[in-house]
Order: sequence, then C-alpha cells, then structure tokens
Amino acid sequence: MRCCFPAVTPTLNLLPQILADADRCVLCGMCLPHCPTYGLSHNEAESPRGRISLMLAVARGQLEPTAGLRGHLERCLGCRACEAMCPSLVPYGRLLRNTREYLHRHEHSRLADTLATPARRTLLRGALRLFQASGLQRVTQQLHLLGHSAAGRLVQGLPATTAAPALPEFTPAQGKERGQVALFTGCTGDLLQRALLHDARRLLSALGYAVHVPPQQGCCGALHVQQGDGATARRLARQNLAAFPAAAEAIISVASGCGALLHEYDQLLEDEQAAGFAQRVVDINAFLAGVEWPESLMLRPLAQKVAVHESCTLRNVLHGQKALYALLRRIPQLEVVELPHNDRCCGAAGSYLIEQPAAADALRADKIAATAVLQPQWLASANIGCAMHLAAGLREAGLAVEVVHPVSLLARQL
Ligand code: SF4
Ligand code: SF4
Repeated sequence: MRCCFPAVTPTLNLLPQILADADRCVLCGMCLPHCPTYGLSHNEAESPRGRISLMLAVARGQLEPTAGLRGHLERCLGCRACEAMCPSLVPYGRLLRNTREYLHRHEHSRLADTLATPARRTLLRGALRLFQASGLQRVTQQLHLLGHSAAGRLVQGLPATTAAPALPEFTPAQGKERGQVALFTGCTGDLLQRALLHDARRLLSALGYAVHVPPQQGCCGALHVQQGDGATARRLARQNLAAFPAAAEAIISVASGCGALLHEYDQLLEDEQAAGFAQRVVDINAFLAGVEWPESLMLRPLAQKVAVHESCTLRNVLHGQKALYALLRRIPQLEVVELPHNDRCCGAAGSYLIEQPAAADALRADKIAATAVLQPQWLASANIGCAMHLAAGLREAGLAVEVVHPVSLLARQL
C-alpha cells in the first residue's frame, strides 16, 4: 500500500470537519460493546473510541498515518452501530468517510472501478451468463474451485441465475395513477439483481405508481467512498443527480447499501440540488410498507418460515428495518422471525468481505449458527452484499436456506 499523506482534495477542505466531528467524542466508551470489531479483538484501537482518537491525532498532525494505523481504520466495517447509540451524536460515518478520503491511497479499487463503468459491466454480465449457462458456476460452488480468493468468495455467494431482460425506461401504473417514482438500479443491481428490479417495478406499478428507470444513472459511489476515493464518488453522484427526473416524487433503492449513500448525497456534495435529491431517496421496503395497498392486490399464502436479517445500512443509516417485518407479514401464513443479534454486522460491509476475509467470516459465523437453529426456508435481506455473503456461508455450512430480498418474496406470492 502506497502512502500519500496528506492528500486533501482541492474541492473540499476536509480537515476542519474531521477535527470538529472527532472533537465531539467525550471518550465515554458507551459505543464499545456495540462495535463488532472490538468484540472480535478487544483491542481499543479496533473500537470506535480508539479509531476516533487515531483520526483526531492524524488530523492534528500528532501521528503519522503508518500502515498499522491505516490497518485499524481499514478494519472498521463502517457499520455505524457506534453512531446509532452515541450519546454525544458523533457523526462517525461522516468522520470515517472524510478521514479515508484525507488519507486517500490513490490506489483505486478494481472492483469499484469495474462495477462503475457501464462497458465493463456489460462485459462482466456476458461472462457471468456464460459462466452460469455452462454449469460452471454450480461446479465451482460445489467444489469450491476458486478457494478463498477474492473471486472465489464472490462466486460462492452468487445467486443461481442473474439472467433477466433489460429494464424498460418507463412502466405505466396499473389502473388509476397515484404518482410517479424512479427506480435506482445501481451497478450491482443492474448486474446481479435484475429479477429483483423487475419485481420492484411490477409491485410499484400494481400499487398504482408509474415507474421511471433513468438510463443515464450509474453506480452510487459507495465502494469508492469506502476506498477514500471521494472525487470519483462525487463525480458519480453528480451523474445521478442529473439523471433522475424531477417528476419522480421518490427515488427508490432496492439495496440499502446504495440507498444509504444516495440518502447522504447532501453530505457528499454539500449543495441544494443534492439536498433535494437526498430527501427524495426511499428504501423500497419503507416505500411499500408506507403506502396503502388496494384490497384487490392479493398475496397467496405461504406456510413457511422466513428469518429476517437487518443490514447495518438499513438499521443505522436509513432506519427502515421495521418495514421489512411489516411487508413480509402481508404474506398470509408466513412465519416472520427476527435473526438474533441483528444489531451486529454480518461482515459483508461493501468490499470488506474480500479485503478482510477472516474478520468477515468470523462475524458471519454467528448469523449462520442462528439460522441453523431457527431452520427457516428463507433468509430475507435487503442488501445485495449481505445477501451474497450470507448465501456463501449457508452454502458452506450445507444449509438449504434460500436468501431472498423481501420484495422478491412478495412478488412471488402476487
Ligand atoms: S463515539 Fe460516542 S459513545 Fe463512543 S466514546 Fe465517543 S462519545 Fe462515547
Ligand atoms: S462503524 Fe462499526 S466497526 Fe466501525 S467503529 Fe463503528 S461500530 Fe465499530
């Protein structure tokens, strides 16, 4: 890893904000029991309080950003469980994002760059279809042919098929139109979750909403933010701001990881246009749970059990986890249970599952063990990264539990 300290971007002066945010911490330590990485290591430098002290010292010029110090920050999941319960309201997410950008490595994430480029995504989609249609994916998963390499970890969590037609740019409302919304597809959604996006589009239309899918939209920039590449994240955010029509009353995200950053574009760009955009961002689960359903929209009963995984971005940033239960309980006879310790990150955390595999697997182990005890047919998750990480863990444990997005389970029962 190349050190390039300091690397303040010319567009934003990050230091005053880092200093002000870190200064809010009163070192009470109330966040420590809630931090997954502190729970694994019991090391102060792997806790929120320890990391805030390190960020403050670097910003004040009291510490050099050595490889060891950077390691403590890189092992932070960014789950923001600490922020959610901090009595001093330390904006930990913003502090971490700004510090990572301040220490920006100038080493772009190959995963983030590949996913953010439409031409590369098209190539990847073609390769993925071939990989799945040839049966190679099944064999690779069964025999664990790629081992614990980055590619191997991603392949283990891939859904059985990602093939689905391209999304139409506009879907009219069924019956009387109640309003217009726009669907955010994101790079991973477009690549891996087109079936889910079609499910979301169908449901919204059935509920009376016309659905736009703006063709000029792109990656949200979350993986770039995680790498400290704020300049690319801001460029992608500007592209999305320009892509979405003003007529859409809501910009709906199906992946909470993307939705969380879209919802904070106002912090990333710091202007009125971004604030207007961020206010319109809604997670699909919250949107569907918040609107009235016509009596004519019937769901078929499903006499099975679903365990609900709450992603950190949905809990700690979007605060929309209750909507998961409300939505799933619309399915008659479906037993909806909470996965224990939902306040703990599963270890997926963007590219964390690839970059910190040991910690990611250790954090996932509790979720897999809890699923084995509950014995559901389904494990519902509203975030693609968590879904893939959990699916890989269930496969490795030999558990026949299918990971599903709540919206796809609803659409299946329409
Ligand atoms: S981040 Fe908040 S909870 Fe944690 S030590 Fe600082 S003030 Fe206390
Ligand atoms: S974001 Fe999560 S992993 Fe990072 S310090 Fe806070 S609680 Fe710990």
